[in-house]
Amino acid sequence: MHKKHNFGAGPCILPPSVMEQAARAVINWRGMGLSILEVSHRSPEFEDVVLKTQLLVRELLAVPDHYSILFLQGGASTQFAMVAMNFLDTGKKAAYLDTGYFAQKAIKEARLFGEVDVFASSGDKDYTYIPVDFNYDKQVAYLHCTSNNTIEGTEMFDFPKGGAPLICDMSSDIFSREINITDFDLIYAGAQKNMGPAGMTLVIAKNEFINQAKKEIPSMMDYQIFRDNMSMYNTPPVFSIYVAMLNLLWLKDQGGVSGIEQKNIAKAKLLYAEIDRNPLFHGTADVEHRSRMNVTFLAVNKEVEAGFLKFAADQGIVGIKGYRTVGGFRASLYNALPLSSVEILVDAMATFEKEYSG
Ligand code: PLP
Repeated sequence: MHKKHNFGAGPCILPPSVMEQAARAVINWRGMGLSILEVSHRSPEFEDVVLKTQLLVRELLAVPDHYSILFLQGGASTQFAMVAMNFLDTGKKAAYLDTGYFAQKAIKEARLFGEVDVFASSGDKDYTYIPVDFNYDKQVAYLHCTSNNTIEGTEMFDFPKGGAPLICDMSSDIFSREINITDFDLIYAGAQKNMGPAGMTLVIAKNEFINQAKKEIPSMMDYQIFRDNMSMYNTPPVFSIYVAMLNLLWLKDQGGVSGIEQKNIAKAKLLYAEIDRNPLFHGTADVEHRSRMNVTFLAVNKEVEAGFLKFAADQGIVGIKGYRTVGGFRASLYNALPLSSVEILVDAMATFEKEYSG
């Protein structure tokens, strides 16, 4: 099925076996003579899918019982506004860590609802690192951070502890590594990197925190309403939830999050080693904050950049062109990308170097 080595950053990279099961369910789900797309979302069969998907999230990420798991819509971009709408009280500020493009978008939306204190930023060095030495007012309504900066290729490996309630955008690294859920009060993530197709947004939130949310907000922006209606306040994104369930079952078969984390570490190590060895390329992120999900690197000149893009494409390597604002290359190593694809990319870099220099 998958003939290309897809290093694209999205919208969704899934294992071929999951794609095949999803395709079959679109034609005839469970032998019911109906497509998964047309079965009522209120049917016991679909309610079972929602429950199973929630249970898989709970099991794979070790989510304690006092946290709720919600499936919303509108992508992580809606969460930028929704967290502020629910928790940014007029009497208190919110503290934001600015680590790049998506963090800035979150800041912009939050400012529509209250006062925002950007207490640390890596903007002074083009977002090539994660600020670690910082102080912020512990009396804020919440602290917001972004665990993986998809465009800049940096990742947070330590999170602030013991201060204000912590909210984290984990869109591009959730399910790629083990996390301690109790470090966070609310986590959100667009599904489309490691969870399933675009259309669903995952929210994991401490019940006690959700209970503190403001009441006078639109129903579609109200975490309490979605929690109290089992994520079925309105028509849920049925296909996205169904395929996420299939994909999480696949993840469980890979040894769960700890199993996939080891594979992700191996993939990232291999690629960064070649970037550091090969004189034609260099990494853009500070070594200790390098992302395991989105590897960003530059070529020594434009000729090498264009030449390598073409050379790689001829070998079925796609999706490595860097984001338009950063340039160069970005190789995304999401869960579904096998180590063998990274080996092929690394070989291509080494062969290109020989041909170019020789
Ligand atoms: N936050 C991060 C870290 C992302 O990588 C993305 C998209 O790639 C977003 C937010 C925006 O997500 P969405 O497109 O689901 O709104």
